[in-house]
Amino acid sequence: MLDSYSPIMENTEHVHCLIIGSGPAGYTAAIYAARANLKPVLYQGIQPGGQLTITTEVENYPGYPEGIQGPEMMVDFEKQATRMGADIRFGLATKVDFSVFPRKVQIDEEKWITADSVIIATGASAKWLGLESEQRLNGFGVSACAVCDGFFFRGKEVAIVGAGDTAAEEASYLSKLCSTVHMFIRRDAMRASKVMQERVLNTPNIKVYWNTDTDEILGEKTVNAVRISNNKTGEKKDIPISGFFVAIGHQPNSDIFKEWITMDEAGYIQTVPGTSKTNVEGVFAAGDVQDKIYRQAVTAAGSGCMAALDAERYLSAKGIH
Ligand code: NDP
Repeated sequence: MLDSYSPIMENTEHVHCLIIGSGPAGYTAAIYAARANLKPVLYQGIQPGGQLTITTEVENYPGYPEGIQGPEMMVDFEKQATRMGADIRFGLATKVDFSVFPRKVQIDEEKWITADSVIIATGASAKWLGLESEQRLNGFGVSACAVCDGFFFRGKEVAIVGAGDTAAEEASYLSKLCSTVHMFIRRDAMRASKVMQERVLNTPNIKVYWNTDTDEILGEKTVNAVRISNNKTGEKKDIPISGFFVAIGHQPNSDIFKEWITMDEAGYIQTVPGTSKTNVEGVFAAGDVQDKIYRQAVTAAGSGCMAALDAERYLSAKGIH
C-alpha cells in the first residue's frame, strides 16, 4: 500500500531511515542502518536504553565474559551507534500518519518528521503490582525477568507472582536454579496452558499458593521476605526469600501505531514471519514490541539487525536514495 505521495512540507525534517526506540533492537538497527549509509535518525523515547536500564547485571549477552551492568551495556550500544554515524536524539514519538508517503511521525507533540522508512523498536514494559517496596527494591532482589536474573539466586528461596504462561515458564526455570520457588496466584485457577500448569504442579520444589495476594516485599537494601495474604480467609504470612519475580504480563509500547499497524489483541505488532515487515510498506518492527515469546536483549538485537537490512533492501528496491 504505497499511498498518496505527500510533498515534503516546510518546517518538516525529512530523514531516510527513522528509528523509534533505544533498546537493543533500536540501537542495533541504527548500527546496521548507519553502516549501510541510510543516515538513520533514532529517537530514544521516554526511557533511553529501554528495559535494560532497570536491570542490574547482564550475564547472558555474548561478548561480555565478565557480565556487565544493564545501563552500562546500553551506553555501549549507544556509543557504537553514534560512532557508526547514527544521529541519536532525545525525544518521544507521539503520533504517526502512515497513510501517506513519505511516512509521517510526530515528535514530542510538536515537530513532524517525514521518513522514507521507519523502524519501530519501542519495546514493551513489564507490568508491576504497584507496591512501593516493589519499586524501591527493583534491581535489588525484585525482577521482572527470571531468565535475566534467576542465576543470582542459585540455591536460594525465591517467590514469583503470576499465573500465565510467562509465570509458569519462569517458575519452571527458577526451580532448576533455586531451592524453593513460592508461586502466588490470585485466583483459584491458573491462566497458563494445561501443559505448563501440569509442569508447575508436578515440580516438587515449586510451592503454589492459591487465592493469594502479595501485600509487601520486605527488606531494607535487598529483599529478605514477602508478606502475603489469602484473599478468601484473610490469613497473612511472611515468607523468607531472597528474590521476588513479577510475571504478570507485559504491555507492548504500540499505542500510537494502533490505527495503522496490524497487531494481536494484546497490542504486539505482527510481522511477516521470518522478516521485520509490518502491513505498512516501508515500516518495519523489531524487538519486544513484536515479540511476546523470547523477549531477550540478544533476540531483540538480532531482530533490529533484520529490520535495518529489510529497510535497506526496501529503499534500494524502490530506488529511494
Ligand atoms: P498473561 O496476561 O497471559 O497472564 C498474566 C497473569 O498475571 C495472569 O494469570 C493474571 O491473573 C496475573 N496477574 C495480572 N495482574 C496481577 C496482579 N496485579 N496480581 C497478581 N496476578 C496478576 O501474561 P503472560 O506474560 O503470562 O503471557 C502473555 C501472552 O504470551 C499469553 O498469550 C501467553 O500465552 C503468551 N506466552 C506464550 C509462551 C509460550 O508459548 N511459550 C511463553 C510466555 C507467554 P488472572 O489469571 O487472575 O487474570
